[in-house]
Amino acid sequence: MQSVTIVWFKRDLRLSDHAPLFHALNSNRKILLLFIYDSFMRGSTLHSERHLHFQLESLYDLNQQLKHFNTGILSVEGNAAEIFLMLSEHFSIGEVVSYRESGTSDTFARDKIIQKLLRSKGIHWNEFPRTGIKRGCESRQTWCSDWEEQVRGEALIIDLHKGLFVSNTEFNQLPFKHLETRTPQKRFVQPGGRSYALQYLHSFLVERHRGYFKHISKPESARFHCSRLSAYIAWGNLSISEIWQKAQDTLLEGSRRDLQQFVTRLKWQAHFVQKFETDGRIEFENQNAAFNVVRNDVNLHWVKAWKDGLTGYPLVDACMRCVAETGYLNFRMRAMVVSFFTHHLWQPWQVGAEWLGAQFLDFEPGIHFPQFQMQAATTGLHTIRIYDPLKQSLEHDLDAVFIGKWLPELAVLPAGLIHQPHLLTPLEERLYNFRRGIDYPLPLVDIKASGSKAGEMLWQILKSQEAQRESARILKMHVISPARKKAMRSLR
Ligand SMILES: Cc1cc2nc3c(=O)[nH]c(=O)nc-3n(C[C@H](O)[C@H](O)[C@H](O)COP(=O)(O)OP(=O)(O)OC[C@H]3O[C@@H](n4cnc5c(N)ncnc54)[C@H](O)[C@@H]3O)c2cc1C
Repeated sequence: MQSVTIVWFKRDLRLSDHAPLFHALNSNRKILLLFIYDSFMRGSTLHSERHLHFQLESLYDLNQQLKHFNTGILSVEGNAAEIFLMLSEHFSIGEVVSYRESGTSDTFARDKIIQKLLRSKGIHWNEFPRTGIKRGCESRQTWCSDWEEQVRGEALIIDLHKGLFVSNTEFNQLPFKHLETRTPQKRFVQPGGRSYALQYLHSFLVERHRGYFKHISKPESARFHCSRLSAYIAWGNLSISEIWQKAQDTLLEGSRRDLQQFVTRLKWQAHFVQKFETDGRIEFENQNAAFNVVRNDVNLHWVKAWKDGLTGYPLVDACMRCVAETGYLNFRMRAMVVSFFTHHLWQPWQVGAEWLGAQFLDFEPGIHFPQFQMQAATTGLHTIRIYDPLKQSLEHDLDAVFIGKWLPELAVLPAGLIHQPHLLTPLEERLYNFRRGIDYPLPLVDIKASGSKAGEMLWQILKSQEAQRESARILKMHVISPARKKAMRSLR
């Protein structure tokens, strides 16, 4: 049996600046490139078809590059343990290499099983850290400088000519459920794969970043002026270091302020993932346990209305329909729909997090869950922000371009009336041939009342001794110095 190094691709679907692949190329073994789509993801509401589609497009792209080497990525669906077991019957596995995943509880549980299995077979699994992310990180004292050192470091040069690969013909015969990769295509949702990732990066650095900070909160123009790199980062088509370095190269020619704001956010990416890596239970549990006493009941009718974009608040509804169709919302709109769900509708954040996790093409558990808890005010560390959807609407979509696009039933109304269709007079209803509550729902809640009720309840808990004790515990776990605490509060 031939001895192989298996490079297990997870959320790192690229062939450049890839530490495990670099390592494999320097081993003297044949290399088998592997991707597994875990069968448990099919039944999960969090891991959606949309994510799989993006991964299949990314794999297609990689296979195009690997064609010249008479290989590709063995892409299979199934139970990871069974797949590794079967592979160990066909190959003598010298080593498995991969990036270490800060994933959801189900991928974490899977990894523990794989670790045990490989150990029982005497196979070493070498897990490489993602940029800036430390497992078992006990102190954040040097975290920032370590992150900076890593992104500044030279990108790993991957020379595929150095490797000897297990060929397509060899692995296609293996009795697996092989996945069919897909040609990336431009459609409503961003296409997967490195080629598109590089196009987005290039157009952002050359042109689109001008006006980044001015437009970052606007639901319509942020789609153009923000980088739109999140999905390519989440699925690893690009490494953070290469983005960071290319952005540095552009600083002199581009709009410095915009690029600096952008670069700061690249650090936030790792900062949030590190939080999740350190405390993975926040996928399900309130980060600050003092908040366990509230939002324990689900109103199925309201949850459905929120998911379907039928709450009676146009900007919220436009966002919910837009994300279902395109998989993307800018930061402010994400924060607003979560705020509406958890504060105004007073629903458990876990229900919303599952739904939006499946919708977001860039679903990254390490950002998603900590951000959800921040917006739901269950961390006890951040200012409680209760967004008023009407105010957001007037500030960020005054001409109702975004609302009109996603709520065609309101397009008959002039921009001045579209933000509050429930306030139309009977005369206006006749004039615009629009029926309040029939053509578009009346508001589910009165936001003035719901907002102040939520604020009162949350502040009361926040002031409690239990919440303070919990906050101190959380701060100790995630942050150290007062300067760091201040920096954290400024994270939007
Ligand atoms: C409730 C909620 C859930 C979120 N879930 C996700 C998620 O699953 N995956 C995800 O990538 N982002 C998530 N975000 C963060 C943020 O909204 C997106 O990263 C950003 O909108 C993506 O657009 P962009 O790539 O154009 O970002 P840009 O503004 O161009 O930023 C560049 C990159 O920096 C990182 N980044 C930007 N903003 C943040 C932030 N606030 N926190 C952490 N990293 C950031 C992302 O990797 C992003 O691609 C969430 C935010 C909220 C409020």
